[in-house]
Amino acid sequence: MKNVIIVGGGIAGMAVANTLAERKVANINVITDFPFYFAGPSRPLLLTNEQKYERIIRGYEEAGKKGIKVTFGHVIKIDPANRKVYLSETTTSNSSLREIEYDYLVIAPGIVFDGSKINGYEKVWHKNTTVYDIGRINVLKQRIWNATTGRIIVYAPKAPYRCAPAPTETAMLIHTILKYRGVREKFEIIHIDANDKTQPPAIADIVSQLYQKAGINLVTNQEIVEINESEVITKSGEKYKYDILAMLEPNRAPKFVEEAELGKEWMEVRSPQDLRSPKYDDVLAAGDVAKLPYPKNQEIAFESGLFAANKILEMLGYSEKVPVQYAFVGWAYMGNVEGKLETLSVRFSLDFSTQPPKASKDTEPKRDYTLQKDNWEQAYLERLFGYKYIN
Ligand SMILES: Cc1cc2nc3c(=O)[nH]c(=O)nc-3n(C[C@H](O)[C@H](O)[C@H](O)COP(=O)(O)OP(=O)(O)OC[C@H]3O[C@@H](n4cnc5c(N)ncnc54)[C@H](O)[C@@H]3O)c2cc1C
Repeated sequence: MKNVIIVGGGIAGMAVANTLAERKVANINVITDFPFYFAGPSRPLLLTNEQKYERIIRGYEEAGKKGIKVTFGHVIKIDPANRKVYLSETTTSNSSLREIEYDYLVIAPGIVFDGSKINGYEKVWHKNTTVYDIGRINVLKQRIWNATTGRIIVYAPKAPYRCAPAPTETAMLIHTILKYRGVREKFEIIHIDANDKTQPPAIADIVSQLYQKAGINLVTNQEIVEINESEVITKSGEKYKYDILAMLEPNRAPKFVEEAELGKEWMEVRSPQDLRSPKYDDVLAAGDVAKLPYPKNQEIAFESGLFAANKILEMLGYSEKVPVQYAFVGWAYMGNVEGKLETLSVRFSLDFSTQPPKASKDTEPKRDYTLQKDNWEQAYLERLFGYKYIN
């Protein structure tokens, strides 16, 4: 049987792995950093204690029962001309480098956060936290729950970045916590956005109304290019002092993609349905790393994984195709303006299978939408990792 190597055991990588393993058409080896996966969508609710770490972590062993091999290591280089992947056993050093050969390679490592284009970032990186990273959200949580006064800056870089509404969610949840603590009037919250509207644009109007109610200041079209101990500086020279900073760094593909000449910021693909590299028939992209004309979110990542699996099935000579199209439903947490630790959410969806894409939304914040998002996230984790979280 052919060897399919998948780099990244996240949403897209596990979508490919499960689809191929269920059909027993190839040897599947997922190479991934850590012996666990940590889901993204409900991470912001860790801030308000509405989500628990253990509910959104999964191990790989149950998926392994299907015949998916998982190798833990950090991929640092690929050599598509010689069909080799190089990994190191740790994420911090290149010692004990291993090489693995493949017949087909799927690159699905998600994104990296890149502060290097922001002057001064290297020096004061520790001042910044976000809801995006599992360690840093814990730090942000301590800062928000312990602070007594000051200015909080939340920042969204230029799109595309992973999970469009997360910076807005961060601002609204911070408001909620401060209000709950009875100290909201001692803080100023500013959301600086490098885009002309908060993302996604479909819900920008309701966000601006809720920001007014919550007293959050919104500054758009301002890209942060410099940072020091106490202020951020934008491209047009505006300076904003901060006490707490939740700045999402620009997103991009891991460097090994560019080094293998598979793309610059994102990995190039032939089309959203044919996710092969334009240069190599046996190298495919899936998930957030791929240069796709769609938002970078969980459903698009999953669907791209199914398209990648379909292409591999075709190349292996199988006629079966898994049904898939590009469409997603999203729920954005809007916190709770009154300060109850019961987050309300708005709902929006986009279906790219029609031209023009069909959009729908309900921008009335509802508690039920927060619960729907939880069910949706848990269902994906069960499907991809093979088990349910039991309390
Ligand atoms: C805070 C937050 C909120 C979000 N909210 C939503 C939401 O509300 N709705 C929504 O649809 N989506 C949301 N998302 C986005 C969603 O989680 C991602 O779009 C989705 O996970 C992308 O799937 P992926 O497979 O491309 O990447 P991931 O799921 O991130 O998987 C990539 C995997 O590759 C591993 N990896 C990375 N680099 C390497 C390497 N060099 N070597 C080996 N392994 C590597 C990683 O450890 C990870 O396990 C959110 C994400 C975050 C972080």
